[in-house]
Amino acid sequence: MSFWKTLFGRKTPTIIHGSPASEKAIGSFHEPAPTAKPSDIASPPSSRDYFNKEWNFGLTIPADWKIEFENRDGDPGAPEWMQPLRISCAKANHGHPYLSILARPTKEDGKGVRGYMDKAESDLRRGFYGFALDAKRETELLGYPVAWMTYGYRLDSGPRKEINATAFFGHGMMLAFQFIGETDADRVDTNFPLFERIIRSLRVGPSGIRHPSVYLPESRVCELCQKAFPERTAHSMLNLKLGRFIAVCASCRNSETSI
Ligand SMILES: [Zn+2]
Repeated sequence: MSFWKTLFGRKTPTIIHGSPASEKAIGSFHEPAPTAKPSDIASPPSSRDYFNKEWNFGLTIPADWKIEFENRDGDPGAPEWMQPLRISCAKANHGHPYLSILARPTKEDGKGVRGYMDKAESDLRRGFYGFALDAKRETELLGYPVAWMTYGYRLDSGPRKEINATAFFGHGMMLAFQFIGETDADRVDTNFPLFERIIRSLRVGPSGIRHPSVYLPESRVCELCQKAFPERTAHSMLNLKLGRFIAVCASCRNSETSI
């Protein structure tokens, strides 16, 4: 939603200096899980697999949902948040549900998920007409902490409800990977469980989630196959197993190469 416009400044590439291999994890976030794997939550019967090659992640989405867009830069008002995906259901009487994914690199500040949610709540309160918090809790996704908030607000079309779930992948320099699911309030009982099922279906290729505007200028070799890069062709992936951004060559990016 557009309230994020008030939170973040100009879009600039994030350049991470220093040898990535020597960066130490800091702060209070959890240890990563040993491998990234899909959740064991069962897929609904009428669903299909979606995979985003640009960012290297997949979801199980309802068969009757459509892709609104993929792989957009940030909204002009919130350029720090790139927009890998938005999906929606256009059927009548489904409550106009949308699920968006936003992503941005962010530095660990030591305040943890609770601190993030406290700030987000006060920002949301300022940004939404008729804002009312329903719940905020900390959960996990693929072994990393998630700030999970649910709330309501009013649009001209009527009351809406929203899940705002932000996963923090990695340590030190993290990838904030945010799901925003919104629905008409009168369909919340159907659509919130649906949003949760989609969110928990997240799966990531073994090289990690790519962020196209993060650069690791001092990396000279692919960390998966050890081949030297031609100039500036490294892809920056947040590797879930290592918990940090790594430089990956084009041929390893979507492959099954593991560390
Ligand atoms: Zn490689």
